[in-house]
Amino acid sequence: MKRITAFLKLDLQKLILIVNILCVSCLFIISISVVNFVIKEQLMENALSTNQKYASKVAVSTDLYMKDMMQEMAYSANILGENFSNNNIIQSELHRLKFQSNNFNTVSVLDNTAHIKALEPIQFKYNAHKEYRTAGVTESLKRKQTYISPPYKSISNNLIVLMSQPIWSTEKKYLGMLTGSIHLQQKNFINKILSGSYSYKKSYMYVIDQNSHIIFHPDTSRIGQDIRENTGLQYMKQHKSGSIHLVNTKGIKNLAGFEHIPSVNWIVVSQQPTEELLQQANQIIYKTAIGIFIFYLLMFLAIWKITHYISSPLHGLAQMASALNQPDTDDQIRKVNPWYFEVMRFRTALLFSSKKFKDKVFELNQHINTDPLTNLFNRRGMQLYLKELKKLNTEFAVLMIDVDHFKQVNDQWGHDQGDQVLITLAALIKSNFREHDICCRLGGEEFAVLMLSAEHDDVNKAAERLRVTMETTRFNHIDAVTISIGIAYYPNDALDIKEVFKIADNRLYQAKNQGRNQIC
Ligand code: GH3
Ligand code: MG
Ligand code: MG
Repeated sequence: MKRITAFLKLDLQKLILIVNILCVSCLFIISISVVNFVIKEQLMENALSTNQKYASKVAVSTDLYMKDMMQEMAYSANILGENFSNNNIIQSELHRLKFQSNNFNTVSVLDNTAHIKALEPIQFKYNAHKEYRTAGVTESLKRKQTYISPPYKSISNNLIVLMSQPIWSTEKKYLGMLTGSIHLQQKNFINKILSGSYSYKKSYMYVIDQNSHIIFHPDTSRIGQDIRENTGLQYMKQHKSGSIHLVNTKGIKNLAGFEHIPSVNWIVVSQQPTEELLQQANQIIYKTAIGIFIFYLLMFLAIWKITHYISSPLHGLAQMASALNQPDTDDQIRKVNPWYFEVMRFRTALLFSSKKFKDKVFELNQHINTDPLTNLFNRRGMQLYLKELKKLNTEFAVLMIDVDHFKQVNDQWGHDQGDQVLITLAALIKSNFREHDICCRLGGEEFAVLMLSAEHDDVNKAAERLRVTMETTRFNHIDAVTISIGIAYYPNDALDIKEVFKIADNRLYQAKNQGRNQIC
């Protein structure tokens, strides 16, 4: 973990960015998954329901239409029964039946021995002496009642459905039948209803008869096909109406709705390929995903902006924590806006640390710039002050102080006693001058005092005071220890500080030469 952190140079802002990206990505994936599921479910449910409604509508209208047709045929059969011997009336009634509505491909009248008496349209030729015992005719003769046949191949090799009405004489004697045929593979009324009803997203309708054969289909090559193998057919046969997921003979999945036509017990199926619908769903999901993505992107940017606002004070403070040695760090820390608790605490702690750090540095500086024996400034400390004085162009006097015959003190009383003398002299110097005068030990038994902005008189008086104090101070059993002092003035004696020191030094030696224990 540490390695990763180091490798990525992780900071709070990057961490929040990573968490932010993770959260937003997760949200995005979850949202799209939910949208994907909901939209597809909803679309499929809608498709099933819509197909069911359309199948139902078509089934109801087909049923009504067929009932009307049978009604029409029953009416004609009644007229034909009353005029069965009049061929003219039969022909004209057939003509009317065929062309008034054009619902049938052919209409014909057969007697009770299956001989055709008349046929429309007249272009179709027939043999009046031949028995036409097709499947439909045979069944009609047997039943002697209204009858709609299942599809079968006619003599002219057309796949047809035969509708027939019995013809009864006025004396209730069975005379024959009136038939109307619907050629399934040609234009007919049911095709018209099916193809005109509904066409959306590759949806289509077809009709299955009781024997599981397709009797109407937009693809005419499929008419007559046995679809017993289709999944769901059993379910459709057992239920009057409903919706179902179907896999057709080509293995294509479909969403289907179905309804039975009561008069013939055929099944109207309206279906559309599932794939087609899912493609539509994908388009919706794609558009939704773009919308959601833009929304999350804006959300991400907003969060990013906010986290930047949260993390930047901490980031700033963390940076300053490593720059406590810089002189303006305290000001920088104070500039950080402590607008929430952690930053406030961190800022306070950092200011506290900074103060501690500066105190420590100050203490160390003190050590470097002071003489450990006397606690006066050493030569280095004095140089710092001189620099400042020069910068500010302050007038000052240099007092060079040297202990007289100090070697003898050491020789006679020992080095430790000599040190004591130096310590006492330092204390006397410190108390003899003003607070802001700078007292230094330059090395050995040499001292210097920088008296700031003082008159000659005051300087002389202070020097004399020190000299007398030293002369009269008693150190245990040691004889009186005296000092000599040389004084020079900046900038009166020289414009160069070094020169001023030299002059002071010379005057000190002059004092020595003149007999010591004096000021020059
Ligand atoms: P003069 O009056 O000409 O100044 O004579 P002097 O003996 O004071 O001068 P000199 O420079 O010959 O001797 C200085 C002596 O100060 C030599 C050295 O042993 C002694 N000394 C220097 N530093 C220290 C110190 O830190 N402690 C002690 N006890 N003695 C020191
Ligand atoms: Mg000396
Ligand atoms: Mg000396």
